Amino acid sequence: MSLNIDHVTKQFGQYKAVNDLSIQVPKGEMFGMLGANGAGKTTTFRMMLGLLDPSEGSITWDQQKIDYSRTGLIGYLPEERGLYPKLTVKEQLVYLGKLKGMKKPDILREAEKWLDLFKVPEYLNKKIEELSKGNQQKIQFIAAVLHNPELLILDEPFSGLDPLNVDLLKQAVHQLKDEGTTIVFSSHRMEHVEELCEYLCILHKGSPVVHGRLKEIKQAYGKKNIVIRAD
Ligand code: ATP
Repeated sequence: MSLNIDHVTKQFGQYKAVNDLSIQVPKGEMFGMLGANGAGKTTTFRMMLGLLDPSEGSITWDQQKIDYSRTGLIGYLPEERGLYPKLTVKEQLVYLGKLKGMKKPDILREAEKWLDLFKVPEYLNKKIEELSKGNQQKIQFIAAVLHNPELLILDEPFSGLDPLNVDLLKQAVHQLKDEGTTIVFSSHRMEHVEELCEYLCILHKGSPVVHGRLKEIKQAYGKKNIVIRAD
């Protein structure tokens, strides 16, 4: 039982944003997708979510096509953060939790658990617009995990966070992995992937240049540093 991306290509006109990508992520593992701007990470995630159809190939979870409307299956932190500035954190999370089919007491219990973990329990009654961008990002992360998804997709979860918040988010991600969540995230930075993931893929202009178990990749590349360049 796993996430299976099988020879997937996504073409926009003549341009191949993703080119023959094959990835398997075993259930309960953490997978890192590295690549510079424009490498094809977000496009891959949108296909995983079923928001875009691959031009070729298929993506399945448990051997079934992924359907984003199957509430409970997927949690998604999009790269573009989208919260309502005038709502309080509580109102925002209740609204998003209800869209996932959750009941208010369950939403509040989960929200309080995560706000405690992020050491900001007092944010529950603050307006979104009163929070810094980094703190809004934590709220969006909470929105993605409120319903304990089986598969969690995080698009650049660490970008724009200060080191303290990066550590808190890593702790949260570790906790979810320990509870059995399968996690796929993208990053520009090898250090995040190295620290968190057993499996990784490096995408360059839509094509996978390195793919597999981190341990084996490191052995194959010896002491050479893997550098991600936006050229
Ligand atoms: P970033 O880190 O900047 O988000 P990324 O690795 O997520 O980069 P994508 O957003 O997947 O990259 O974009 C890959 C390429 O596909 C880019 O060149 C982008 O301009 C192009 N692209 C993405 N969506 C579309 C679209 N709907 N129509 C045309 N081209 C697109």
